[in-house]
Amino acid sequence: MYRFYINKTEDDYHFMELARVFFPDDCFETIAYSGKPVGHLLGENSYFINEKGSDDREEIKREFYELLSAITGIRPPWGTLTGVRPLKPALEMCRETSIGSMESEMKEKYLLSTSKASLLADIADYQLAYVSGVPWEKSSLYIGIPFCPTRCAYCSFASNVAPAEDHAAYLENLLKEVSYAGRLAGENGTELESIYIGGGTPTTLSSAQLEALINRVSEAYGVDPSSLEFTVEAGRPDTITKDKLDTLRRLGIRRISINPQSMKDKTLRLIGRDHSSDDIRKGFRLARETGFDVINADLIAGLPEEDADDFEASLKEIISLGAENITIHTLSVKSGSRLKENDPEYYRKNADTVSRMLDLSRKMLSAAGYRPYYIYRQKHQIGALENVGWCLPGKHSIYNIRIMEDKQSIIGLGAGAVGKVYHPAEDRIDRIANVSNYRIYSERFDEMISRKNEYYK
Ligand code: SF4
Repeated sequence: MYRFYINKTEDDYHFMELARVFFPDDCFETIAYSGKPVGHLLGENSYFINEKGSDDREEIKREFYELLSAITGIRPPWGTLTGVRPLKPALEMCRETSIGSMESEMKEKYLLSTSKASLLADIADYQLAYVSGVPWEKSSLYIGIPFCPTRCAYCSFASNVAPAEDHAAYLENLLKEVSYAGRLAGENGTELESIYIGGGTPTTLSSAQLEALINRVSEAYGVDPSSLEFTVEAGRPDTITKDKLDTLRRLGIRRISINPQSMKDKTLRLIGRDHSSDDIRKGFRLARETGFDVINADLIAGLPEEDADDFEASLKEIISLGAENITIHTLSVKSGSRLKENDPEYYRKNADTVSRMLDLSRKMLSAAGYRPYYIYRQKHQIGALENVGWCLPGKHSIYNIRIMEDKQSIIGLGAGAVGKVYHPAEDRIDRIANVSNYRIYSERFDEMISRKNEYYK
């Protein structure tokens, strides 16, 4: 067990998060400490950080990073940055200086690798060119459909394999919640910038149910789906039918998401998917024939038993299928997933392979004309790496950018939805969450409804 005494700090949280990048939780302890090192504290594997008594947290974190790196022999590429939004400090620096200065400053202040600093520069460059300003007075709307045909091994979302009667019962309440929230929005003059129906897999619902939901959203919020960015996730190819795609398109939906994660059949079986790579190809073909403007496709780097060649083959095919958005995720192994139950330390393995996959994706996507446009990190990702959304120029998703900025309210409806209220005067976000279990959502439906009032307090 390693013990790290952090001098002149009252809260060890940031140091603990940094140590987690290097060690499993049960191998270390970080201790907020004040004073001079006392001999008996500093036994074997005990270290005293910030002996000189600096008040600058970033400086102390740099010293700590160097120590952790010397002990373990690794240099994680995100340096001392442990938060989920690495672009946030980078954009602030860009606004004060320039993209070039930001790159050097991020390397100096947070010990970022050259490659991650230049990735942030590319993303900042895209956002500054294509997404000017945040209309904070507008809101986004998120609606959760917590059903999927099977549960993936890495899934930690509000997702359930449930019978058709449960879908119908859930939808009945959801439609009421949409009406109620829409009425409140009208009374408070809320204007929507984007709408996102996610989950789960929304296309687990039938064509008629999808139509009822989209029509209710249109009525309640007074919007024509074709007049704003409106995305429906059709993530699982085994839920896609021509009828559902035709319905979405007829109602004005122009963006969908088909999420293969891998094009290798063995991997699809290993992660608990009940479909083949051919189903993915068929889904893409149908979506293209139906005439959607943007198809997003998610791929995951680090899936069980995959090597860099498997990942490269999957990405090559997704590019050739013509997805306008491609999101490259690093596998995150969170509590509540089967992978985590089977091997709690899975996310600590294969960091080098996943790093190679991410480098490869950057080369291949850049060569094919895609630009990185948003980025986020999650806990328990292999190698503490990242997720990056790539798009053909101009085809980005504004919703994905807004959820990372934390500068706009997001109204969250349905089981598992977590909304946000943005307070511009204090530049602060409050979160308003619905429960994630769809049965409890129905049991406590009156409470879910009354929580909508909190968006307008
Ligand atoms: S498709 Fe997504 S939400 Fe559904 S089970 Fe798989 S990971 Fe979970």
